[in-house]
Amino acid sequence: MIYLDNAATTRVCPEAAQAALTAMTEGFGNPSSRYAHGAAAAERLRADRAAVAAAVGCLPEELFFTSCGTEGDNWAVRAAVEHGRRKGRHIITTAIEHTAVLEPIRALAGEGCEVTYLRPDRHGHISVDDLAAALRPDTVLVSMMLVNNELGTLLPVREAAAAIRAAGSPALLHTDAVQAFLKVPFTPRDLGVDLLTISGHKVRAPKGIGALYIRKGLKLKPLLLGGGQESGLRPGTEPTAQIAALATACNAWLPHREAYTDRMVQVKNHFLDSFSAALPQGVVVSPGDAPHICAVSLPGYPSEMLVRELSDRGICVSSGSACHRGKPSHVFAATGRPKGELLGVLRVSFSPESTAEECDALVEALTEICSARVSAR
Ligand code: PLP
Repeated sequence: MIYLDNAATTRVCPEAAQAALTAMTEGFGNPSSRYAHGAAAAERLRADRAAVAAAVGCLPEELFFTSCGTEGDNWAVRAAVEHGRRKGRHIITTAIEHTAVLEPIRALAGEGCEVTYLRPDRHGHISVDDLAAALRPDTVLVSMMLVNNELGTLLPVREAAAAIRAAGSPALLHTDAVQAFLKVPFTPRDLGVDLLTISGHKVRAPKGIGALYIRKGLKLKPLLLGGGQESGLRPGTEPTAQIAALATACNAWLPHREAYTDRMVQVKNHFLDSFSAALPQGVVVSPGDAPHICAVSLPGYPSEMLVRELSDRGICVSSGSACHRGKPSHVFAATGRPKGELLGVLRVSFSPESTAEECDALVEALTEICSARVSAR
């Protein structure tokens, strides 16, 4: 199998899988138990939190484990609006956020919040001037992702923080950093955000684990009510195996971070060059600012057909996270590019394991599929 859909999920690295197995079969105590086996689990949890916090670039007490990126995004959006309820009910976000941000915001709009959606240009870039113009005295939340999951574009989060400060706005700034974590350098403090979401399964940890960064000093409402875990803000017995795996995946990635980034950029550029050379009718929709995501299109060849035919040849790529039933995803649609281009979009996304040979096989398969279609016409 050739797997080039690493923005959807990644293969768990062997070190992380081993750490999860050990945590499940040996260090399986409940960190809240008072005897030594529980204390050992609590100690391991403390070390794992410190490791993930170091990878995020925050203090351990600023990191709250969640079950996934979706949970972190939902919690951040709802809690930020609740936090600002005495100051206003205006939210600013972008039209190209993940549904994990857009859907809770849509629900809040149904409950009386006003929402401004910033629109991207045709390359998927968001203007910070548009954000500055949209800020109002009653804006309580700005939610802007750091890397878009379908286009690989980088959004101006740092500049957004500066604009919020310059306007003297009370708005909290949340960023969904699910696709950025470990792939582009940042710390929450240098970005100037109050809230930041990550998810484990995009960085070679298993599914079922994520985290929300909450800036120290910011008091938010708990997501759930229950025991005192995660400082009482996200109670529930900690998923120690997933947490151990996430910490181990971070520790395995960090020493190679620059080399991994360089490799993914090289492989992505190799793919884009061979795609353009072999398929002159093809369009590069987004070369991606992030090292691991790009989007291309073959106008006239529907994405769903391409994904199916590639799958038959053992190649996995995506048609974009919500491109189905002949409709482009909300992200691609928001770029306003011609419909024919949007209906033939493929997202190709890389991991540090991806190779130039895999890209060659993908381009060869696409060339075959296109020529078979032309001769059948
Ligand atoms: N945000 C972005 C940008 C994503 O790409 C994803 C997953 O694709 C999510 C949020 C949701 O994360 P999870 O799958 O961990 O719920």
